[in-house]
Amino acid sequence: MDALVAHYHEVGLKGRNRDFFEQQLARNLKRSLRGLAYSRVRRGFGRIVVDFDEGAPVDQAAERAARVFGVAYIGCGRRIEPNLDEMERAGLELLAGEPFESFAVRSRRTYSSFEMKSQEINAEIGRRYKEATGARVDLTDPQATIWIDLFGGAALIYRKRLLGPGGLPAGVSGKMLALLSGGIDSPVAAWRMARRGAEVEMLHFHGRPFTDPSSIRQASELAEALTRYQLQTVLHLVPLGDIQREVVTNAPSSLRVILYRRMMMRIAARLAREREAKALITGDSLGQVASQTIENIGTVDAALDDGIQILRPLVGMDKQEIVDDAKRIGTYEISTRKHQDCCVLFEPRSPTTRAYPAQATKAEASLDVDALVGKALAEIETRILELPPP
Ligand code: ATP
Ligand code: MG
Repeated sequence: MDALVAHYHEVGLKGRNRDFFEQQLARNLKRSLRGLAYSRVRRGFGRIVVDFDEGAPVDQAAERAARVFGVAYIGCGRRIEPNLDEMERAGLELLAGEPFESFAVRSRRTYSSFEMKSQEINAEIGRRYKEATGARVDLTDPQATIWIDLFGGAALIYRKRLLGPGGLPAGVSGKMLALLSGGIDSPVAAWRMARRGAEVEMLHFHGRPFTDPSSIRQASELAEALTRYQLQTVLHLVPLGDIQREVVTNAPSSLRVILYRRMMMRIAARLAREREAKALITGDSLGQVASQTIENIGTVDAALDDGIQILRPLVGMDKQEIVDDAKRIGTYEISTRKHQDCCVLFEPRSPTTRAYPAQATKAEASLDVDALVGKALAEIETRILELPPP
């Protein structure tokens, strides 16, 4: 193998932004392929082609490239001269790799890049493969597929095709700050917004000094998992333990969780402003737990008066759908490990399912909210995670 081609859907639809989007995608692909001996990355004809030096680990490169947001799919194969004999020769070489009984040829060409139509190429090349291998053509469920991609004066042929995550290149939607617990939902929420082009920084609250560091480890590993997609992640760690103690001693126990969450939001909003993040992201899903009834979500939001947007990409999803997503993106296994979450600290026996902003404000009257927020911000520890080299 000596070349990859990255195809994308939405990036191509963005009108005047198209150039910017494609540049960002090419940049992200290059970053993901660092250290894998590629020689050139070229944009054009609605795709990005990567050429490699001889002996480069192209299969490994394909797997990395297939995690880059914006990529619909990656073809991993060879660059050839755009003529029928080359398509025959190179395709038969690829087919010799693994045994098969049925096959399909699927070519695709940009306008007038080749004198024959795709259908005609498929038929002619299919005929030649059939003659050479004895295998039958099966267009519905072939055991092997040869893709031929013709564009400009160039051609790529491949047998290996990997689906990408789709979406938009990381970074094109600007920076956002995700509130990351150690649980299942918030990493999925962060991933979903990153797939829509957000550069997602993460903020994790831990219960130090009242909990062990297990949730910090958990959050770090989840942030690492996301880094496989967005290539770099900034993770902020904030101790919430002292604030929680204040809440416990000064406010009714049924409101505890809501008050923790309101403090989290205030700290997050201040940090977002410092970091120039345009929105907050949480993993709330309507009605999933007591703190996520529509009333309680509203009361949490009411803690903020600075107009920052709060995005909840999972709000309408069922738990099972979120779990499926978590498994697919590789965070489920991390999220389900045992860890000490700060929200269960001093957990009340009966949390309210309907708190109203006035109740929360009243309960907070005896707290020095500004001072607590300021203290937490001063104690933030920030880590920068990079995609590890291959
Ligand atoms: P998750 O699986 O994401 O923990 P959950 O169903 O357990 O969600 P909650 O514990 O009510 O729900 O949290 C709702 C959202 O609040 C989380 O998705 C996350 O965005 C934020 N959040 C909760 N705990 C923390 C924390 N310790 N640090 C940062 N954000 C948190
Ligand atoms: Mg949780």
